[in-house]
Amino acid sequence: MNDLSKLTIAGARDALRKGDMTSVELTEACLSAIDGADGLNAFVHKTPEIARDRAAAADARIKAGDAPAMCGIPIGIKDLFCTEGVASQAASRILEGFQPQYESAVSQNLIDAGAVMLGKLNMDEFAMGSSNETSVYGNAVNPWRRRDDEAALTPGGSSGGSAAAVAADLCLAATGTDTGGSIRQPAAFTGITGIKPTYGRCSRWGTIAFASSLDQAGPMTKDVRDAAIMLGAMCSHDPRDSTSVDLAVPDFEAALSGDIRGKTIGIPKEYHMEGIPEEIEALWSQGKDMLRDAGAKIVDISLPHTKYALAAYYVIAPAEASSNLARYDGVRYGHRASLGSGDGITEMYEKTRAEGFGAEVQRRVMIGTYVLSAGFYDAYYNRARRVRTLIKQDFDDVFAQGVDAVLTPATPSAAFGLGEMKSADPVQMYLNDVFTVTVNLAGLPGISVPAGLDHQGLPLGLQLIGRPWEEADLLNTAYALETAAGFVAKPVKWW
Ligand code: GLN
Repeated sequence: MNDLSKLTIAGARDALRKGDMTSVELTEACLSAIDGADGLNAFVHKTPEIARDRAAAADARIKAGDAPAMCGIPIGIKDLFCTEGVASQAASRILEGFQPQYESAVSQNLIDAGAVMLGKLNMDEFAMGSSNETSVYGNAVNPWRRRDDEAALTPGGSSGGSAAAVAADLCLAATGTDTGGSIRQPAAFTGITGIKPTYGRCSRWGTIAFASSLDQAGPMTKDVRDAAIMLGAMCSHDPRDSTSVDLAVPDFEAALSGDIRGKTIGIPKEYHMEGIPEEIEALWSQGKDMLRDAGAKIVDISLPHTKYALAAYYVIAPAEASSNLARYDGVRYGHRASLGSGDGITEMYEKTRAEGFGAEVQRRVMIGTYVLSAGFYDAYYNRARRVRTLIKQDFDDVFAQGVDAVLTPATPSAAFGLGEMKSADPVQMYLNDVFTVTVNLAGLPGISVPAGLDHQGLPLGLQLIGRPWEEADLLNTAYALETAAGFVAKPVKWW
């Protein structure tokens, strides 16, 4: 056992290039960390053979002087990404046994950049959830615990396995996806960094769809520099995804000067919400001071339609999900129910979908089908789409007034206990996304940076929201915030 898995991408990259270690050594360290962490239930399909092969190939590339950004870096891949010949189930029973014959665009880009896949990571079923508790594999567990308390906490969701794995140093970084907050909320709950880029930056091709107009992939990493490095490797223009943008991918890492003098940071008054803990308000205000001390100008702004965002999201996301999930019918791939002698095709669909989808997914399919039904389409779906336009307009207006980035809390609470929301109304769980969904509805880039600990010793994150396509600038502001916050706490190992 050694500490190599604790390295950052940047640290490992430099050590690999200098010849201080090999990717094979680094990969072995991660594989043994993973084997010692079954209690976290983060990696749900381990791929040690693939990892060892790719690590050896990366070492050969580095030796030959051809070492791209992620060369030899061991990472985990969220189960939502199709990976060739490797189980890709979206944490659902309905995709049991499915092994794609192709690689998603994002994971292929990472392979091309030399990354080493260690395995697939736990998540909420079809990325629907905020606690990783809707997974067919059972929930992942947060490596953090409250002070003097052994209660198991959620790592957040839906990218809960990714967050737990990075926070526990099982891998150097992981992919996540974010439809309404699924990168940023778990990053905040586990003291790591996560960025959702502008909609269209990462190709969605080969990523199992939840809500296509909102879904974006992004990196979950130990710090902002790593997020910049890995994001650069993940994005590309891809004609196979009609919403993928044909824009050059900047060198995000080169943008990290930490100099934010003259930048304007907006503080939206509507994000001061009722019931938000005092310590989250306090952290937000400290974040504001940190950015001001670093030379930014802080201005109060208004995003007046924020209060409608959750309602609009929980119409639009289920509507798209109900359509996307119609393809899981027991015919083409994954699970098929066993049938009785009198059963026909309708019974086959019904039984397969009833067995294959968990309760939350069924709820979303029903809501989605309802809001899209002929009699209610205008009242719900079209109205939600209009609200979405207004939310986007709110951001366009503040950007037009010269705001470079918006600072908000990342989540309305620290990580909560597993099972704690079980008896609650589902809407209770949906409230988790209150600070994050606006960003998806408006298609903007958003990043969560760990900024402090709460009274129980749990990490809290701050969110920065940027202008479309200006991830480089956003990452630099996040870098300044990270430097000022100086968050270095790590979970105490118990697993
Ligand atoms: N928690 C939100 C939901 O359940 C967001 C999920 C996500 O971003 N994938 O829909």
